[in-house]
Amino acid sequence: MREDNYRIHYFIDKNYKTDEQLHAALMHEMYHRVTLGRDGLHRDTWVDEIIAFLAAHYGLIEFGMTEYASYRLSYLTREQVLLSLEDVKHAKQKSFFEFSSSLFPEGYGGRIYRTAQELDLLVGWPQVRRMVDCRNWSDWLAPFSADIREKIILLLDLSVDV
Ligand SMILES: [Zn+2]
Repeated sequence: MREDNYRIHYFIDKNYKTDEQLHAALMHEMYHRVTLGRDGLHRDTWVDEIIAFLAAHYGLIEFGMTEYASYRLSYLTREQVLLSLEDVKHAKQKSFFEFSSSLFPEGYGGRIYRTAQELDLLVGWPQVRRMVDCRNWSDWLAPFSADIREKIILLLDLSVDV
């Protein structure tokens, strides 16, 4: 377990109107809770948010909320304001005390959702989930073919030698 001042914020907005919205939020935050303190690629916030987004998506499907899961995915990946992945990687979380509706800058979520969706299409959820068990990109990339590795490196803008 990390001993430094790792702060966690669980955002369960009281304005969620439906069971589906509440489920998605809870699964997103539970993913963070379960993986907190584990050493893995998710120690980088942008990776963590990609996995959390997909954890909520596949969690909804497991709860039989498939229709809402597809609606949510297409709605969120349509978001127009997108930061570049590079900006996302360097984005600083806002202070909790700014009381903003989001801890991240505008356009952050859009890039996360879209990258998550593309990564999921490329390698599938079980492989994305495996990031939590890998301490470096080379380990995570190892099982993929050279062709897929190249696509992943491009998509995630990674600087690794493979
Ligand atoms: Zn999150």
